[in-house]
Parts: sequence; C-alpha cells; structure tokens
Amino acid sequence: MLSVKDAEAIILNLVQPLDAQRDVEIVDLWAASDRILANPITSQLDFPHWDNSAMDGYAVRYEDVKQANAEQPAILEIIEEIPAGYQPKSTIQSGQAARIFTGAVIPAGADTVVMQERTRREENRVLILAAPQPQEFVRHKASYYQAGTQLLPPGIKLKAAEIAVLAAAQCPEVKVYRRPRVAIFATGDELVTPNTPLQPGQIVDSNDYALATLVRESGAEPLLLGIVKDNPDALQQTIAYAINNADIVLSSGGVSVGEYDYVDKILEALAAKIHIRAVEMTPGKPLTVASFPNQHSALYFGLPGNPVSALVTFWRFVQPAIKKLAGLAEGWEAKFVKVRSHDELRANGKRETYIWGRLYLINGVYEFHKAGGSHSSGNLINLAQTNALAVLPVGQTFISPGEEVQALLLANS
Ligand code: AMP
Ligand code: MG
Repeated sequence: MLSVKDAEAIILNLVQPLDAQRDVEIVDLWAASDRILANPITSQLDFPHWDNSAMDGYAVRYEDVKQANAEQPAILEIIEEIPAGYQPKSTIQSGQAARIFTGAVIPAGADTVVMQERTRREENRVLILAAPQPQEFVRHKASYYQAGTQLLPPGIKLKAAEIAVLAAAQCPEVKVYRRPRVAIFATGDELVTPNTPLQPGQIVDSNDYALATLVRESGAEPLLLGIVKDNPDALQQTIAYAINNADIVLSSGGVSVGEYDYVDKILEALAAKIHIRAVEMTPGKPLTVASFPNQHSALYFGLPGNPVSALVTFWRFVQPAIKKLAGLAEGWEAKFVKVRSHDELRANGKRETYIWGRLYLINGVYEFHKAGGSHSSGNLINLAQTNALAVLPVGQTFISPGEEVQALLLANS
C-alpha cells in the first residue's frame, strides 16, 4: 500500500495548473478578494507620485534652519499653506517656509519638513525650535517604486494588501484565474437527501454538503451532481458527465472492496489510469485517484464514503490539489505545525493516523484538544468545530499529554 507521502507526491504531480492565458477572467477590483492573480502587475506610476510631506509641519530650506535651537530659533515667513491634494504655487526662498500637511506636495525651493511639534507659530511667522536632519520627513518621488517595476507577481491570492496595491496602481479591473470546477456526487443505495423521511436502512447524504463547502472554501466552484445509486449504468453516466465538465471530480463511497463498490471498475471501463487505490492511513484507507490520459485533463478522486474519512482525505489530498490547480504559485501544500497535545493520543502504529480535534492558543502556545466522543470514522457528529488533525506516523502508537505532536491545519488561509 502507498504511504501518505507517496500518495501526496503522485497527486500533486498529476495536477495540471490552470493556464495563465486560457483559464482567466477579468473581474472588478471590488470582486477580486481571494482570487488568484493571473498576470504580473507592473506600475505605470512612480510611488510616491511626487515629493510629499510625511508630517504636518513646515516645508523649509535646510540651510535656513540647520543651526536652529530653542534659545535661538530660526524665524521664517510663512508664504503659503499647502493642504494634501493641492499643487503649491510659490517657490520657497531663503527666510521663507510653507505651512504643509501630511501627504501634501513639497513646494519648489524647500527640501526639508520640520514637524509642527518642533515649531511655534506667531501670526504669519514660524519659529523653528530644533534643527531637523537634512531632507527630514520628505518622501521623495519614486523612492518606493519607479514606474515600470513589478508590484505584484502572478499566482498570488488577492487579500486586503494586494487589493490596495492594485487600487493604488490604478487597476480597477484585474485578470485572475477562473475558479476551478469541481464535480461532486455521492454514491450509495442507502443515501437520501436531508428533506426525506428516513426509511429503515437509509441515511442522509452529508458528504455532498461537506464537500461542496470545502470546495468553495478552497476557492473552487462546485458542480453538484447529487446522489447516484449503486448501479453501474447510472454511475458510468455520471462519471462520464463529470469528467467532461469539471477539472476535478469528487465522488464519495463505493471505493472499498464490497460487492457494490463499482467506482474503480467503471473508471477502468472509461479507460482511466488508476494511480492510487488505497493509502496507508486511517481514517481514509480506500482512496481512488485516477486520470484520463489523452482524453480529459480531469483528475478523479474516489473518496471513501465514511463521513470522517471523506473529509480527512479531502483535507489531506484534495485541498492541496485544488489550490495548485487554481494557479497559486506556492503554498498549496498541506500545512503542518508542531503543537502540544493536551490529551493522550493513541494509534495502532500500522497506518498513519489522523485524530480530529481543535487547536487552542493557550499562553502563546497552540495546544491540541482531541474531540470528545467516538473516533470511529463513521461518527460525523464530533467532527464539528474541528480545526486540526493530529498526525501519528506509522510506528507511533502513543502520545502522552503535554508531548509535542504534528498537526495538520484545516483553516483556509
Ligand atoms: P462506502 O464507502 O460506500 O462503503 O460507504 C462507507 C460508509 O459511509 C457507509 O456506512 C455509508 O453508509 C456511509 N456513507 C457513504 N456515503 C455517504 C454520504 N454521502 N453521506 C454520509 N454517509 C455516507
Ligand atoms: Mg456505498
């Protein structure tokens, strides 16, 4: 059986990222949050656009004030007031100053700003009470970035700071990768929708709901194909439709070795290449990963049906695959941190074991608290509020309270 690491490498290697020319769309900057930039952004402007003041104070000539102190202040005539947003009209001559405000343009002739806390105003004169540094509090034109320099590289996710950069660079519209399309369906004769009264033997399909949420959280668009019976024809039709209409296909259930587990056989009938059939992990051992060489670029994940297994395999393998496919240049890999375990954790040592729970920040240290209740992979209920999975590698059977453990972070950043 494949190790988790090997399975991860195979999957990430199979992912074909979206194309920076074809798979893009233009979005309004207001709607660009969390989208992935497809083009480098090059500045048409200098930053700052012109010499401006970093302080409220007085624009002066350094030569006039370099000897100033509280006993012998330099006394300058105020010839203009320059608020932010105005073009100065005069040129500062020796013995003159302009009242200036933060962000306002430095007038010709001035080279230094004295902050107002080091001055005293007397009608139309200002007394400079301390000598500034030469050019102090002047933000020089182009001193941050010159026109023509790259402000943002492609492949980054647009968050508040990047959106602000785009606004400042006068990009009211931006080219981003389209959202990956992820087809989702559940398989099983026992499954019904949440609004159906339960007959004996039936259970509610929760996987479709969980997976649709995770797909959206990962920045992709779910294509919801619903519940499919354990019927080879119906399954084949759905799978054929899904691989033609999505970048990634997620089914849940039907990938174990039971009589009614048809997914692998149908994939073979559709000429799929099956790369993974099982992974050495718990929960989540039955996992099918397939591609369709020379037919479609779609990547197929047959997730286990057990609700916990379906989510754990999504978090461990599918989420990184979606993020890589979506055009992110880096940071798509699963993220692990070393944390302190609050609880005793146990595993059988035979497979890599994922234990669900919650990280709490306690006195600056993250602590893992195992979820209460049964840790059966069929027990969906105690997954609620999970934000991390503690990971015990093969061979490790025990972590005692207070010991360090690796945790897979589930929060989407
Ligand atoms: P399977 O992998 O099809 O053998 O399913 C394993 C277990 O997961 C069975 O107990 C199923 O009833 C359950 N299961 C399968 N699909 C779903 C689903 N979509 N939602 C909730 N439970 C499911
Ligand atoms: Mg089933």
